[in-house]
Formats: sequence, structure tokens, C-alpha cells
Amino acid sequence: MSILVVTQQQGGLWHPMSWEALAAGRQVADDLKTDLVAAILGLGLDTLATEVARKQVERVVALDHSLLADYTPDAFADAVRQTTAQLDPEVIVFPHTYQVRDFGPKIATSFGRPFVSDAVGLHVEDGELICIRQLFQGKLHADVTADGEGPRFVSVQSGAFRADQLRDATSPVGIEKPDLNLDASRIRTKPEAAFRESKGEVDLSSADVIVSVGRGIKEAENIKLAEELAAALGGQIGASRPICDSGWLPLEHQVGSSGQAVSPKLYIALGISGAIQHVVGMKGSQTVVAINKDSTAPIFEIADYGVARDLFEVVPALTAALRN
Ligand code: FAD
Repeated sequence: MSILVVTQQQGGLWHPMSWEALAAGRQVADDLKTDLVAAILGLGLDTLATEVARKQVERVVALDHSLLADYTPDAFADAVRQTTAQLDPEVIVFPHTYQVRDFGPKIATSFGRPFVSDAVGLHVEDGELICIRQLFQGKLHADVTADGEGPRFVSVQSGAFRADQLRDATSPVGIEKPDLNLDASRIRTKPEAAFRESKGEVDLSSADVIVSVGRGIKEAENIKLAEELAAALGGQIGASRPICDSGWLPLEHQVGSSGQAVSPKLYIALGISGAIQHVVGMKGSQTVVAINKDSTAPIFEIADYGVARDLFEVVPALTAALRN
């Protein structure tokens, strides 16, 4: 028995949520007093596998295969299915990425098991895995268990587990490369260039610093104030929904229940009230700074640092100070 964590990489770069999923897997493995196995999929994985082998994991399984060079749901699902059948893990943990939404449930279904998606917490009671999921835009939390026998499949929400809780190992573990029986004729899709990569667009889910604008910014042309602050910090621009609904920023900047879930080291909210639908998308941030002229705005309830002032005074001064 073990806990298997299926990590994600693309082009030799980690998806940062991989480390959060490994931290989640470590917690469950410790609770169940069992081993943590990290799986990585792709082609030419030696560098990444060596990196994960230096972390606090008991085993590293590199699913290194030419048919896994690019992501396809058929090949990835088949590779993880074969590994699951071979290792017989008790729980399989995934990061809740777009890729996992695509291929994760297919694996669970092949075992006749449910896939518990987007968990914000995991704990063990009487040897049973309990997954915590949000309901009604985060207003309620529900404990979810998977009935029946067999492996438990779960994906964890961005920011729900802290990547830095996965410690370094005292000595690295070996890297296993199991044989995979993948068949090109069973892969029904042909991957093209990744959408974000080809456009060079923002990827808020991997940003360390996000400066987010809300309706308090008043007009589209004022967004440049936030862009200057983000540039001074080397960060990306996020937004609340009304900003994207107004067409002031493209939808991919939207943070929240109907946008992206983000977990940067620093999240600066400018003129954002802190509605629940926004907060569910950014509450995993390590440090939250809120600038809002209304000192009773709900955003201050989750902010580590709050500035109850007019953002048009504070933001230019902050940018100037950072530039100096
Ligand atoms: P407001 O709530 O209007 O807040 C503006 C804030 O700016 C106020 O607190 C005000 O005090 C402050 N302010 C004004 N002027 C200044 C100034 N000069 N200086 C400093 N502060 C100032 N929202 C999201 O963000 N993301 C989502 O994914 C999302 N999904 C949703 C899904 C559903 C189904 C629904 C119903 C709603 C969703 N919403 C989402 C909308 C959400 O409920 C809120 O309406 C929205 O988050 C509010 O955006 P805001 O904070 O920018 O605006």
C-alpha cells in the first residue's frame, strides 16, 4: 500500500501545483503511515526525476516514454492506469490542473471508482480518507468519502496545500522506470502547440506575485497604475470579475470561482471588496495585501496587511518607493 501522487510537468518545467499535490500526498501518507510515491510523466525525465527524488518521498516512478512526450488524455490515462494497477496504491492524488480535469476522471472510471475533484483539505479518520470540498461558491465545506473498495482518486485545489511543507530528504531515493505498454494506435488525439505557450500569455496559477484590480480602479485607463506596480514587483495582473466582464482585461486575468484559482507568494488586491466568489480564488495566497478605502470591506478579513486608503494615493507612492 502507498500514496501515489501524479505530478505534472511540461517541456521540462514543473507545474508548481505538483509540489502542492506532493505536500498533500505526504500528509496523507504520514496519516496512514505508508509510503509516498511520486510519479512523473513525459519523455527525457532524468533531471526532473532527480529533483523530486531529493524531496521527502519514498519512491520516484518516472513514466518516461516517447508516447508521453506531449500530453494526450489517452496515453497519460493509460500510463497512470498501468502504474496504479502495478503499485496498488490506496490513494492517488493529483493537482487540480486543467490537464488533470481532462484525464483524471478517465483513470478513476477505468477502475470503476469515483474521482473526488478540487479538494481543499484531506484527512484520515479511522483509516478512511476524508476529502473536504467546497459547496455553494465556498460558503459551505462538505466531507466527502468514496464508498466501496479500491483506490481513492482525488485532486487538490491550487493553494490548498503549501508546497514549502514538502521538505528535502536526508538522502535522495532511487528512480524507477517501469515498463509501459502504450499503443500509438489507441491515442485518438494529436497534440498541437500549447495554447498559453504559443500566445506567451499570462499564467496566473504559476505567478509568484499578482497585483489584482477591482471595481475601485474606476476606469480601464487606470489599470496602468496596477501594471506599473506589478512591473516594479515582477508580477502579473489579476482582476475581479466586473473588470473582465467590462472588457477592461481579458478573461484569463480573472481570479475567483469562475476564473482562476491562484496561490502566489504575494497577492495585492486593489479596490476589491472581497466577495466570496473572488476570495475562493485567491485565499491560498501566502501573503495578501489589500488596499481599499472602505475599512469595513470583507477583503480585510483575509488580508495579512491592509491599507484603508484611496488606492490612487497609495499605489503610485508604493510603485515609486519600489522603483527607488
Ligand atoms: P466591488 O464589490 O464593487 O468592490 C469595489 C471595492 O473598491 C469596494 O470595496 C470599494 O470600497 C473599493 N474602492 C472604491 N474606490 C476605491 C478607491 N479609490 N481606493 C480604494 N478602494 C476603492 N467575482 C470575482 O472576482 N471572480 C469570480 O470568479 C466571480 N465569479 C462569480 C460567479 C458567480 C456565479 C457570481 C454570482 C458572482 C461572481 N463574481 C466573481 C462576482 C462577485 O460576487 C463580486 O461581485 C465581485 O467580485 C466584486 O468585484 P469587486 O470587488 O471588483 O467590486
